[in-house]
Amino acid sequence: MLRVQGVEKTFDRFVAVNEANLEVEKGQVVAVIGPNGAGKSTLFKLITGHHKPDKGKIVFKGEDITGLPPYKICSKGISLSFQIVNVFPRLTVFENVQAAALSHQRRTFNLFSAASKFAVKETEDILDSMGLSRAADRISGSLSHGEQKVLEIAIALGNNPELLILDEPTAGMSPEETFATIGLINRLTSEMGLTILFCEHDMELVFSIADRIMVMHQGVSIIQATPEEIRNNKQVQDAYLGGAE
Ligand code: ADP
Ligand code: MG
Repeated sequence: MLRVQGVEKTFDRFVAVNEANLEVEKGQVVAVIGPNGAGKSTLFKLITGHHKPDKGKIVFKGEDITGLPPYKICSKGISLSFQIVNVFPRLTVFENVQAAALSHQRRTFNLFSAASKFAVKETEDILDSMGLSRAADRISGSLSHGEQKVLEIAIALGNNPELLILDEPTAGMSPEETFATIGLINRLTSEMGLTILFCEHDMELVFSIADRIMVMHQGVSIIQATPEEIRNNKQVQDAYLGGAE
């Protein structure tokens, strides 16, 4: 579904992503792991068009999407939920998800049409699947951090993606919220048939839900393999998992 080939991104003279390679097959849950500053968020932004690669190629469902603007990549079926919460704080939970669903349907809020009547069912379904129905009328800015992270995923789903990219979905969540989010990610793949690419610091979470894991270090993708192979890889143990074992 997704192939990232030799992608590179330099900020000024600092190479944030250097020779990154990644493959994601349809229906898989793929995790990217690596220490802070490894280039995970930058890689995700390169895939979704929020950064333009200096080198390399990104192919989604057989089509070269390298360097396309975010809205085009989004319309092709890739959604990104950011590491830093990125919701409209003064809109309600319902309105945040509805805005995403409306823009997916190429509608926008405007003075001349009552946009609030559209995409209602779609929005309700997403809130329901995310366990957010009861919070629908709450002002988004008043939600807990964990709830806002879940709302972020709901907004990403409003775009009806095939590939959902989650940048540290459980960062700052309580253990209960993290547990609920794991269940949710599992449901997104098993029930909704989504393909998921995510990065996460919680290794227990990564090893429990990923089909494949890619390890990134100083902008370079060192290896992509099954959780089993990653766990037993000497290079990865030394560079990264060492302290955790
Ligand atoms: P990770 O998500 O793995 O923690 P990032 O992709 O956020 O890593 O960052 C990789 C490196 O690139 C870091 O050293 C970071 O400071 C740098 N970086 C990220 N975004 C920018 C930017 N917009 N401008 C300059 N440097 C950046
Ligand atoms: Mg990051």
